Amino acid sequence: MRLRFAPSPTGFLHIGNARTAILNHLIAKKYGAALVLRIEDTDMERSSRESEESILKDLTWLGVRWHEGPDRGGEYGPYRQSERFDIYREYSERLLAGGKAYHCFCTAGELDEMRKASAETGSYEYSGRCRDLSEEEKKAFLAEGRKPTVRFRVPEGETVIVDDIIKGRVVFSSENIGGDFIIVRSDGVPVYNYIVIIDDALMKITHVVRGEDHLSNTPKQVLIARALGLPVPQYAHLSLVMGDDRKKLSKRHGITSVDMYRREGYLPESLLNYLAMLGWAAEGGVEIMPEDEIAAQIEIGKLAKSAAVFDFQKLRWMNGSYIRQYPQERLLELIEPYINEAGFDTKSVERPWLSEVVALLKGYCETLPDIQKLIGMFMADVNEPDAESDALLRQENAKAVIREARMLFEGEITAENFFSGLGDRIKAGTGLKGKDLFHSMRALLTGRLKGPELDRALPLIGFERCRKRVEYAYRKYAQ
Ligand code: GLU
Repeated sequence: MRLRFAPSPTGFLHIGNARTAILNHLIAKKYGAALVLRIEDTDMERSSRESEESILKDLTWLGVRWHEGPDRGGEYGPYRQSERFDIYREYSERLLAGGKAYHCFCTAGELDEMRKASAETGSYEYSGRCRDLSEEEKKAFLAEGRKPTVRFRVPEGETVIVDDIIKGRVVFSSENIGGDFIIVRSDGVPVYNYIVIIDDALMKITHVVRGEDHLSNTPKQVLIARALGLPVPQYAHLSLVMGDDRKKLSKRHGITSVDMYRREGYLPESLLNYLAMLGWAAEGGVEIMPEDEIAAQIEIGKLAKSAAVFDFQKLRWMNGSYIRQYPQERLLELIEPYINEAGFDTKSVERPWLSEVVALLKGYCETLPDIQKLIGMFMADVNEPDAESDALLRQENAKAVIREARMLFEGEITAENFFSGLGDRIKAGTGLKGKDLFHSMRALLTGRLKGPELDRALPLIGFERCRKRVEYAYRKYAQ
C-alpha cells in the first residue's frame, strides 16, 4: 500500500489540508504503508519555495511522517512536479502521436467569446473546433505566431465509475466533463488534472486519500490514465471541513493555518488528535486519544461521508486536556517563552520552583499563552489586583482582613510559620469566616479571585512577596 499527500506550495498549510495529511499519515501508520510527499508546484506564479518549506515545517511539527519526498528523496523521485517536466512531455507527445490529444490554437480572446456565447444557452463546453485541423491550417496558425495548447480528446459516450472507499460508487459520463480540456498550457506548463494521475501511477500510489473538492476532477484523471494505459489508484475522498454556518472553513470562522495554531500556543498532539477525529468517531465515543490508538482504530471506509464542522471551542478544550497530561519538562520548555513574553524572566528564578508553579497553573490553561494571565500571581512582587479583586478589596470586610494581615506580617508571622495557620490567625483577629475571609485573602495575596487553591499557591508565592502585597494593599485600600 502506498499513499501520498500532494500539497500545492501556494501559502501556509491550511487546516483542511493538514487534516488530509494527518489522515494519510495515520492510515499509512496503521497499514505499514509508505507515505509519499509530493509538491505540486506547477502554478509558477503562486508557488514558492518559502511556502514549501513552511508546509514541511508545519507537517513535521504536527507529527506527520513521510517516507519519500523532496527533502529525503526516494525511489520514485523527483518529488517536485516542477522537476518532472521531461516526464510529462514524453507522455504528451505520446498522446499527440496517438491522436488522443491535439494542438489547439484558439486564443484566450476567442475562448472568452465562446464562453460568453454559451453563457446564454447554459454551461460552457469547448466546441472542439481545433480537433481536426489540417496540417495547412496548423501551419498558418503557427505562422501567425499563435502558441498552441495541448487538449485532451475526451472520448465520447464513455462512463467512468469511481468506487470511492468513502463516498461509495460515483458514476460520471465523459459527456459531462466540459469537453476536451487543456493538459498543457501554451507556455508549455502541464496542468494539474493531467500530471496528477501520471505521478500517482509512476509513484506507484495505490490509495489516494484527498479532499472531496477533487472528486469532480477524478473522471478527467481516470480518462487520462485510460488513454495512457496507466493504472488508476483507489480513491477515498474526505468530506470537507466547514465552519459552524456550514460554509467552507475560512478565515472568517477563526484561525485556519497550522502555523497560527502553533503560534497561538496549541500543542501539536492535540491538533493532530482533533483533526484526525473530525468527521470520524472512535469506539465508545472516546475523543482524546493518542496517535497510536487512533492509528489502530481508524478505517478509511469508516470516515464520514458528510461535512465535518470545525468546532474551535472543542479544540481549545482538547488542547487544555493535552496540556494537563503533557510531560512536565517538555511543557515547561514550551510554556517558558510565553512567561518571558509576559515580562517575567524565567532565568531569574529556580527551575524546580518554576516547574512547580507551571504544574499548578496548567490546569487553568487551554492554550499555552493562557499562563500569561496567571503567572503574575507567582512571579510579580505585587500582582496588581484585577478589576474584580480591586472591587472586593474596597469592601469593609476585606479592609479588616488587610489590616489584620498587615499586623500579623509585622509581628508574629515569619517566613518560617506563615504557611501554617495564616487563615486561622486572620479569622481569629477579624471574626470573619468562609467566603468573606477566603475571597478577601485570595484577592489580597494573589490579586485574583480565581486560580489554584491558596494552600497550594501560598508556599510557592512565598513569604516575602506576600508581605509586600499586604503592605501594598494596606496603602492602597486600608490606610
Ligand atoms: N495539489 C492539490 C491540492 O493541494 C492536491 C491534489 C490531489 O490530492 O490530488 O489541492
